[in-house]
Amino acid sequence: MTKNELGFETRLMHQPNFIDQPTGAVNVPLHYSSTFHQNSFDEFGPFDYSRSGNPTRLALEEAIADLENGTKGYAFASGMAAISSAFMLLSAGDHVLVSTDVYGGTYRLITQVLTQFKIEHTFIDMTDLDEIARNVRPNTKVIYVETPSNPCMNITDIEGVAKVAKANGCMTFVDNTFMTPLLQKPLDLGADLVLHSATKFLSGHSDVVAGLAVAKDEELGKRIGFIQNSFGSILGVQDCWLLLRGMKTLSVRLNQSQDSAREIADYLHHHTEIEEVYYPGFSFHEGYPIHARQSSGAGAVLSFRLPTKDSARVFVEHMKIPVFAVSLGAVESILSYPATMSHAAMPPEERAKRGITDGLLRLSVGLENVDDLLNDIKQALEAVKQHALKAEHV
Ligand SMILES: *Cc1c(COP(=O)(O)O)cnc(C)c1O
Repeated sequence: MTKNELGFETRLMHQPNFIDQPTGAVNVPLHYSSTFHQNSFDEFGPFDYSRSGNPTRLALEEAIADLENGTKGYAFASGMAAISSAFMLLSAGDHVLVSTDVYGGTYRLITQVLTQFKIEHTFIDMTDLDEIARNVRPNTKVIYVETPSNPCMNITDIEGVAKVAKANGCMTFVDNTFMTPLLQKPLDLGADLVLHSATKFLSGHSDVVAGLAVAKDEELGKRIGFIQNSFGSILGVQDCWLLLRGMKTLSVRLNQSQDSAREIADYLHHHTEIEEVYYPGFSFHEGYPIHARQSSGAGAVLSFRLPTKDSARVFVEHMKIPVFAVSLGAVESILSYPATMSHAAMPPEERAKRGITDGLLRLSVGLENVDDLLNDIKQALEAVKQHALKAEHV
């Protein structure tokens, strides 16, 4: 059987480089070496210096390239390092189109760092293909997509965007952090580059900060590799190893969390204290038909709106199981408050435009017993209700 005939789950743990040939060790060795001895004066081996290449990192980079159906993968010190390095493909005077509801750190990079290098941007509603086409300029080089978007789970048609991009000679970059290649493969849909915060579902255990980039074609891949080596924000050996270990269980973790997220989303949707639930698995979600076409699941992250900041605070203070923290995609459920966490870098009026109100909470569902999670949510919402009643009587 050739590699590509194997199912995704199998490919997660069986990659050509995973078994150490000299010893048979079933885990990639930690090659803690900054430099590599050259046996020949004239001909150097495949590795010379670890910024340029390291065998442990290479095993990870080849694995993610295979899993995303790309040609070349690269591992970076964080998701933001991967995203920043990708934007280094651009030059002064270039323009990018970006989803309005892009990740807060990417928003900060685009508005406060790339502007210093005269890279222009327009934030647009990526759910509207006509709006994209209207905003493309002669100097537009990249259309930057996140789908589902964070935290309101808007859906962008990756294939549609890639077509507009190709017609206008630009590249499509997709941040695939929320879906991972288990659920969505942007390169198969026409994207040129996939980016990941591997800190999230790919590693899955809240123990690593890491980023990955995978290019569809060899040429673009080489350009990213050149930037990785020039800029130097590589992922360290130990973190490569932890990420490789985490990725082997991606499908069991994400499938389980996804099942629980579905139950929780249904429960919240029917609860009177909740104003709105954002979850791309609802058949009545605006982007559902597109999401169902381009991905194989709704993922394990959902957001929901309580009426006020006060009610959000009471809810958080009463929840016992999830950690209250930034980040997502871990074995433990993570409850977060986008207004002051993931989107703190965004001014309040910009947050309001994107639906990130003071009552909005995001839940990344982990691997706890789902009934425990539901009971926890139930009692916290009861506390919210009692608190509101008390406030009415003051
Ligand atoms: C967390 C995150 C990032 C940034 O990744 P880091 O690993 O924290 O640098 C980028 N995009 C999305 C969608 C994220 O959730």
